[in-house]
This record gives sequence, structure tokens and C-alpha cells, in this order.
Amino acid sequence: VSSISGQRIVVAGSGALGSAIAWRLQTAGANVTLADAAAPGDNASGIAAGMLAPAFEAVLDESSRDRFALLKAARDAWPAFVEGLEPFGGRLERCGAIWVGDEASQAETLAALRDTGAQADRLSAEETARLSPGLTAPAGSVFTSDDWRLDAGRMLAAMRDGFLAEGGQTRSADLASVADGAARLEDGEVLRADAVVLATGLAPESMSDAPPEARRLHPIKGQILRTGSGPTSGPAVRAKGVYVAPASGGAAVGATMEQGRGDRDIDPEVTERLRSLGAQLFPALATASVSAEAGVRASSPDGLPMAGRSSRAGIWLALGARRNGWLLAPMLAEVIAQGLAGEAAGPWAQLFDPLRFEP
Ligand SMILES: Cc1cc2nc3c(=O)[nH]c(=O)nc-3n(C[C@H](O)[C@H](O)[C@H](O)COP(=O)(O)OP(=O)(O)OC[C@H]3O[C@@H](n4cnc5c(N)ncnc54)[C@H](O)[C@@H]3O)c2cc1C
Repeated sequence: VSSISGQRIVVAGSGALGSAIAWRLQTAGANVTLADAAAPGDNASGIAAGMLAPAFEAVLDESSRDRFALLKAARDAWPAFVEGLEPFGGRLERCGAIWVGDEASQAETLAALRDTGAQADRLSAEETARLSPGLTAPAGSVFTSDDWRLDAGRMLAAMRDGFLAEGGQTRSADLASVADGAARLEDGEVLRADAVVLATGLAPESMSDAPPEARRLHPIKGQILRTGSGPTSGPAVRAKGVYVAPASGGAAVGATMEQGRGDRDIDPEVTERLRSLGAQLFPALATASVSAEAGVRASSPDGLPMAGRSSRAGIWLALGARRNGWLLAPMLAEVIAQGLAGEAAGPWAQLFDPLRFEP
């Protein structure tokens, strides 16, 4: 049994997963270097809506069906994780989430939420209006207290600041290769490393010798709108084909799921469609200023992440979090920390084994 303390770890990728892992390992006494050529937040994690949504994901996303218990356990890893980040501005909003739609869709959603094991209730039009000012919901809504939120940009900054305050180091360069206990960055710097963690979303393009199992991941592009308007607090609002997630600077309206697309181009037609769907919920969005952003999610064949030891000695993977990278980040950081410490894997770790697709 080894301990994390004193281990030299290089984490490649400073999105939700890499940042959570770097923070977790550094606070456990490791000497972590977090390497990423991209500017902080210039990734899927930085544009995400920040919903921590075990309930609605288990009901609305085909590939998360029947995974409520897992997703809820991931959510429940957040409070302890965020505690040390509070001085750096890390905060959870335990605000619940609501579904808005006609009578039939509400009845169906209520039943589906309860079937999956989530808490769920009907709210009247008046109750809905109190919870989410500005929302048009004449038929009321379905509320679950099981879904929470965070501000993605703010949480990324909190993890980074906390990590630096704990003595962690950052590099503005991508990882190029790993060999013989050394990580080589694209700018030529070589870092001694007892272990390297790839948290690069998809397999890192810059690395010719990435573990082959990482090539099983595929991209899913997502476009999302930032508005200068809409709700700044309260529950995320879900409806057919759209969600509106409150954020301090103005709501996020999302999002597309474009299978196989790894680009970040903005499609004006998509922007207009999201705006008009969002405006059906919050009429103020019809005339609000919006800016569109795109990010690339990474998915494995079964929709669950790869987190754990790879087929290459000294290389660990934390990839493929698909559309729940924020929800899963503390749980996956724990899986990596336990693995590096040589501790027994927790109850969920086996599901994330990067080698599960290999013959
Ligand atoms: C529109 C949209 C909305 C979303 N909403 C939510 C939500 O509400 N809730 C939720 O839980 N999830 C959401 N997601 C999903 C979530 O954003 C992802 O699952 C999560 O961001 C994945 O985090 P990550 O750290 O694995 O990858 P990323 O955020 O993609 O970060 C990977 C990083 O690795 C870096 N990198 C790449 N190659 C190298 C290399 N060779 N060396 C070093 N660094 C490298 C990149 O520059 C990047 O910064 C959303 C996604 C999208 C696109």
C-alpha cells in the first residue's frame, strides 16, 4: 500500500476533472503539476451549465437511464469536496430543478422521476412563479429537490486558486509524451512524475503514445447560449428540447447534443432555435443579448467515464465524462486518489475501469 503524500503527479488537462483531481491530490500531500496550453475555462467545463442533476439526467438522458443511484452518489460527494474550496469562492446551489410542460408531460415526468427513485412533486402556477420569477408556466411544473447547480466558471477558478494556494504548480503547455517516469510537455520541459493523469476530455491529440483504450472515446459537440438576461438564481428549468440554467451573470440556455462532432463552430441557426425555445419559458430571452459558445463532450461506448489505471504503466485516465463531468468530478477525483494511494476501489470504481471495453 502506497500513500499519495510526496508523490510527484502530472495532471494533463485543467477542465472540471483535471482541476478536481489536482486539488484533491495536492491537498492529500502530493506534488502536483497541472498542465494545459488552453486558457483557464477555455474548454467544455468552462461553458457548461453547471447542473448537478442526478434526477433529470436519469429521466431525460437515454444513456443515464437507471443510473440515478450512481449519479446521486456523485452529487453527494460534492458537499465534502467543496468545503475546502469555500474560501476561494466555491459554492453549491441546492436549489432543486423543475420541469415545465403541458399536463400530460408533467404527469409523465412526475412518474418517471419517482420511478427512478428521485424526490418529485407537482407545483401550482403560483408556486412555480414564486420559485422562478419571470418563467411562464400556466400549467405549473414538476419540482425535484434532488438536482443542484454550481457556477462552472467560478468553480473552475476556485479549484485553481485553491490548488495554487496549497502549493500546486501550473504549466501553460500541453503534455506531449510520457516515458520512463517523465512527462514531456510540448514546450520541451520535462517533469519527473511518479504518475501522469490524463484528464484531457477526449484522448489527447498532441500525444502520439496515449493509451489505446482512450481512442474508444467519441466527441459530442454542445452549443449553449449565455444571455445577459433571464434568471440569475433559483432552480434550473427543463422543458422539451431545452433547459434554462440560472447563472450570476445571466442564464444559460442549452444545449445541443451533436454526436461525432469535435469542432467548436457556432451555428447561427442553432443559436436562434435555442433562443426561441428559451423565450417560450422566459419571454425576456426573446430580446435579450445572447452569445453562443460550443464545447466538446467526450463519451465512452457505454456513456460512463474512464477513470483509473490505463494499460500503460504510470498513466491514469480520467476521461469521457460525457454530459455529466461537473456532477461526476469529485467522485472521479476520489477514484483516482484511491487508486494512486493503492487503496481498495470504492463501490463505483469498477464501473469506470478504463479497460472494460478491451477484449
Ligand atoms: C454545452 C454543454 C453543457 C454542459 N452542461 C453540463 C452540466 O450542466 N452539468 C454537467 O455535469 N456537465 C455538463 N456538461 C458536460 C461537462 O462540461 C463535461 O463532462 C466536462 O466539462 C468534462 O470535463 P473534462 O475536464 O473531462 O474535459 P474538458 O473540460 O474538455 O477539459 C479538458 C482539458 O484538457 C486540455 N487538454 C487537451 N489535450 C491536452 C494535453 N495533451 N495536455 C494538457 N491538456 C490538454 C484541454 O485544453 C481542456 O482544457 C456540459 C457540456 C457542454 C458541452
